[in-house]
Amino acid sequence: MTPILFNFTDAELSDFITEMGQPKFRAKQIREWLNRGAPDFSVMKNLPEKLRNDLDKIAQTLPLRVVKKLESSDDQTTKFLMELYDGEQIECVLMRTSYGNSVCVSSQAGCAMGCKFCASTLLGLRRNLTTNEIFAQVLIAQWELRRDRTDTQSVRPNGDANNGDVSHIVIMGTGEPLQNTENVIGFIERANRDLGIGWRRITLSTCGIVDGIRELIKWARPINLAISLHAPTDELRSQIMPINNKYKLQSVLDTAFEFSSLHNRQLMIEYILLARRNASGDIELVNCTTEHADLLAKLLNGKNCMVNLIPWNTVDERNFAAPSGNAVHRFQDRLISHGIHTRIRRERGNDIGSACGQLRLKSAKNKA
Ligand code: SF4
Repeated sequence: MTPILFNFTDAELSDFITEMGQPKFRAKQIREWLNRGAPDFSVMKNLPEKLRNDLDKIAQTLPLRVVKKLESSDDQTTKFLMELYDGEQIECVLMRTSYGNSVCVSSQAGCAMGCKFCASTLLGLRRNLTTNEIFAQVLIAQWELRRDRTDTQSVRPNGDANNGDVSHIVIMGTGEPLQNTENVIGFIERANRDLGIGWRRITLSTCGIVDGIRELIKWARPINLAISLHAPTDELRSQIMPINNKYKLQSVLDTAFEFSSLHNRQLMIEYILLARRNASGDIELVNCTTEHADLLAKLLNGKNCMVNLIPWNTVDERNFAAPSGNAVHRFQDRLISHGIHTRIRRERGNDIGSACGQLRLKSAKNKA
C-alpha cells in the first residue's frame, strides 16, 4: 500500500524523510503542508523539485483524494466525491453561507441503518472511517476555501463569509456517526483542538442510537445534537427507519433532550417531508399532513428544540416524491400554530445532487 504521510507520527515522518537522504527539517515542512490539506506534493513549493517528484512516486499526502468535484450553479456549494486508500468512496459538502463556511462530513463508507428514503444506505455499510479520514475531509474543504481566496479568476459572491476558513462542521454525510463513536469523538476533539472550531459550531446528527447518545452524555462536550426524526409515531417511523424497531421514538427524544439540556442547547430535529404517488398517480403525503404536524407538536411541546423541515430531495432508486410547496408551508404553519420553532431548510446544491449518497451511488453504478 502506498504510504500516506498524513497518517505518520512526527517521528515516523522524520525517519521516512531521512531515509530518503533528506535533512530532518524537510519533515517539518512537509507536516506543515499536510496540516493545511495539501492534496499532492506538487504544491509544496518550499521543497526541492526533485524531492517533490520523488515523493510523488512513492507516497501520497492525505488519506483521501478528490475524484470528482461539483459546483452548484449559485457558486455557494461544492460537493466532493473522495476515494479512500482501499477504493471506497465517500462524499463531503462545503457550503459557503452568510454565517460562515460549513463542511458536512461523512463518518462511514455506506451505512447499515437502511432508512427507506436515503441513497447512502443502498449499498450497505462498507466500513467505518478512521479519525484521520474524517478530519482530512475538513482539510480538503479548507484547502478549497484558501484556493478560492488566491484564485483571482474565481471571486465568489457572498462577501466576507467566503474570506474565512471552515467555521462550522456538521457530521451529517454518509453513515451513522454513533455507529463509529470512538473515531467520531476523536475527530471532533481534533477539529476543536487543531482547527479551533468551537464545540457549539459542531453538529452531530444521528438517526437515534440511544446508547451512542448516552456515550455523548458521558463525554460531556457542548456540541449540537440533531435527531433525524422524520415521523411522529412509532408505527410510521418504524416503516421508514428500521432503527426505530430497536430504539423507540420516545426513548430517543428523552435521551436527546437529556443531552441538549445538559449543555443548555437547542435540540435540532431533522424532518424530511415525504410524499409518494398512489396507484392512481396522485401525490399522497406520507409524514407531513396536518395530523402529523399535530402529533409532532404534541411530542415536542414545551421543549427547547428547532424543527428543520427538509423537502425530500429526489433519489431515483427510492419510491418517494417531494410534497408540493403548499403542503410544506401548511405543515410548517400548523407546527408554528402549536408554538413549535421551525424553519424550512434551504435546498443547497440541488443541481449537484446534494441528497446524501447520490454521487457515491452513481459512481459505484458506473464502476460496476
Ligand atoms: S439517513 Fe443517515 S442513518 Fe439513515 S441510512 Fe441514510 S446515512 Fe444512514
